[in-house]
Amino acid sequence: MLMTGPPGSGKSMLAQRLAGILPLPSFGESMEIARVYSVMGLVGKNFEILGTRPFRAPHHTISDAGMVGGGSKPVPGEISLAHHGVLFLDEFPEFKKNVLEVLRQPLEEGQVTIARAGAKATYPCEFMLVAAMNPCPCGNFGNPLQECSCARPQVQRYRSKISGPLLDRIDIQIEVPQVSYDEMASDLPAESSADIRTRVNKAREIQNQRFKMQGLMCNARMGSLQLKKACLLGADAQSVLHQAMDRLGFSARAFNSILKVARTIADLACEKKICRQHVLEAIQYKSYGRSDASAF
Ligand SMILES: [Zn+2]
Repeated sequence: MLMTGPPGSGKSMLAQRLAGILPLPSFGESMEIARVYSVMGLVGKNFEILGTRPFRAPHHTISDAGMVGGGSKPVPGEISLAHHGVLFLDEFPEFKKNVLEVLRQPLEEGQVTIARAGAKATYPCEFMLVAAMNPCPCGNFGNPLQECSCARPQVQRYRSKISGPLLDRIDIQIEVPQVSYDEMASDLPAESSADIRTRVNKAREIQNQRFKMQGLMCNARMGSLQLKKACLLGADAQSVLHQAMDRLGFSARAFNSILKVARTIADLACEKKICRQHVLEAIQYKSYGRSDASAF
């Protein structure tokens, strides 16, 4: 997920809450998490990792070795320490280009092999990437209450630090707007993390049933075969996706991503069939910031 919004709109807070709405790790997952931490000698020290999902938030000055792992005796990096948990990258465009690009392969494969002279190690890294960025260097682009002081090329340069191929691998791209006074002062009850987790657990239960023969945990890990089976679309859902593909020129990867997200939205609604509105919502997440997407 990539959240774009002005400073103070609560992006970091939202990211930190994510671990609280994810299902608790299974015994097998906890063991895998512990194994990574034990390589680092971190089990039993300050880390209470058993029974919780890791939340890692490295600073944007991190090196590529720190991110994916490295060293003469290869040790796991942040992506492996975030295995089965959340990797939060705040100020996303401020990370070095090589550090961002090196994320692409592990994001897809769920594991990373680090090869150094005479030593080679493979570590798991099935993490959920959550990134946050300002809409422009000053942070006010698109803010109706405060004027943006950046020149247009500056805004473009800032955004282009996130490459197309990397963006293509991010399923959900959303805007996190400034919270208005009315919303902050509102005493309407908000849904608690515990309540949301109940809904997430229900959706995960549906997914466990779906993949019980294939050893998959969730929709995100579907391969092309499972996609074909689990993401059958009705005629109306199919036509809206077809239109979006034609008009927005999505890649094959984006097509798969939209199907997976639409499947997940349907699961959260406890619906067997992926409907038109599920596909539309998934398309919206994939086309954030594109002026040609307003027709959808
Ligand atoms: Zn600005």
